[in-house]
Amino acid sequence: MILDNGAEVIIGLEVHVELATRTKLFCACPSAFGAPPNTAVCPVCLGLPGALPQLNREVVRLAARAGLALGCTVRTRSRFDRKNYFYPDLPKGYQITQYEHPICEWGALDVPLADERVRHVQIRRIHIEEEAGKLMHEGDSLWQARGSLVDLNRAGLPLIEIVTEPDLRSPDEARLFLRELVSTLSYLDVSDLRMEEGSIRCDANLSLKPPGFTGVLEELARVEVKNVNSIRNVVAALESEVRRQRAVLDAGGRVVRETRGFDEVTGSTLPQRSKEAANDYRYFPEPDLPWLSVDPAVIEEERERLPQLPGARRRQLRERGLAPKDAAVIAAEPAAARYFAGLTDQGADTRLAVTWMLGDLARLLNETRRGYDESPVGPAALAELLALIAGGTLSGRMAKEVLDKMFETGQSAAIVVAEAGLTQISDQDILAEAVGRVLAAHAAAVADYRAGKAQALGFLVGQVMKATRGQASPDVVNRLLRERLAADAAV
Ligand SMILES: [Zn+2]
Repeated sequence: MILDNGAEVIIGLEVHVELATRTKLFCACPSAFGAPPNTAVCPVCLGLPGALPQLNREVVRLAARAGLALGCTVRTRSRFDRKNYFYPDLPKGYQITQYEHPICEWGALDVPLADERVRHVQIRRIHIEEEAGKLMHEGDSLWQARGSLVDLNRAGLPLIEIVTEPDLRSPDEARLFLRELVSTLSYLDVSDLRMEEGSIRCDANLSLKPPGFTGVLEELARVEVKNVNSIRNVVAALESEVRRQRAVLDAGGRVVRETRGFDEVTGSTLPQRSKEAANDYRYFPEPDLPWLSVDPAVIEEERERLPQLPGARRRQLRERGLAPKDAAVIAAEPAAARYFAGLTDQGADTRLAVTWMLGDLARLLNETRRGYDESPVGPAALAELLALIAGGTLSGRMAKEVLDKMFETGQSAAIVVAEAGLTQISDQDILAEAVGRVLAAHAAAVADYRAGKAQALGFLVGQVMKATRGQASPDVVNRLLRERLAADAAV
């Protein structure tokens, strides 16, 4: 994104993903969301003197899996450090994280943009760290809080932080990157990915590169917006930063390097801290934990177990003839991909499968706020319905009614069709009689058709459909009408 003053937007992201383990990172406290405040805590996560951390090995496996899926190198040796700062949600006065020696380094995610373009976003590192507690502010927002309460149930939960290079070029690219990242992670079972519960949060940094700038990007004044909790808010925060920095530059000012917060109420960013360099945190190696060794066999095992990821799935679906948009929707989440695979495994016609899965079934699921894996009409049941359409037993209109009923009752297509007596009439003799009656009753429309008004045919088809209560095969009716009108005209 190049602004009209020639400046280029440069964006990098740090994405915090809470890992779905049963217990916390360094203690055996449960990671259950929603427990009464300060009930899932112990001396370790409360930071009481003398308590020692003990690493949860499952975290290492999940971090390695995420790293491999993003093309990173998983290091067999990494280390934990202490990041020192004071904040009311951090009882120890420091956070255990990986600073100098993260577990994963140098991967990339290819993000599909509009017009078939791809943005190659490098992943600089992925490190493991512990979560802080949660502050609840009384009042309208953090900025006007009258008082704050702290819940330490979250303190010590395991996180990975995925850090990109500043490779993104617009707020919209940041949105597409985050969507692709969430979609990729959703195939890995590493996190429940519930944004509204805070399992993904994002720090976004943004600089404007003036035209003609030839230095390294690190030299630009970088503004970091901390702790944004939804993709929509990341985009809003970045858009507001573009406008703010642009205004500063246009007024002849200089953008200062700083950390800002995003206020959802006003949709703008506000300054938090003016200075934040690594030495402010006085990182040093965590003395209570040894170097973290990862068995190369575990890394290989995770590599071999990696599922097919969204990018590869999209390519495969497109090779099977799906439109890019349909392939993207189906590959975006595992439940949709499994559903579609289930349909085609049952022999469903690909085109019908896409149309019905992404059309009427998606509508019904949306209306009832369900995912594909919760659909009362499973892939086998929908495949059966599609076979009735493909075989000419049901018209599209009838099939829609049948699907609604299947969705509501969980009954099979065959039972719904039999009970409602809904079978498409393709029998020529029955339909010829109906066509004859309609032609006799609508002489004016017949005259219009002969006078060259093509739309009169549509009216006549509609009348036959009405006379057969929608059960006639529209194809057969159309053909019979044309034949009769042509034959009568010839007489
Ligand atoms: Zn604990």
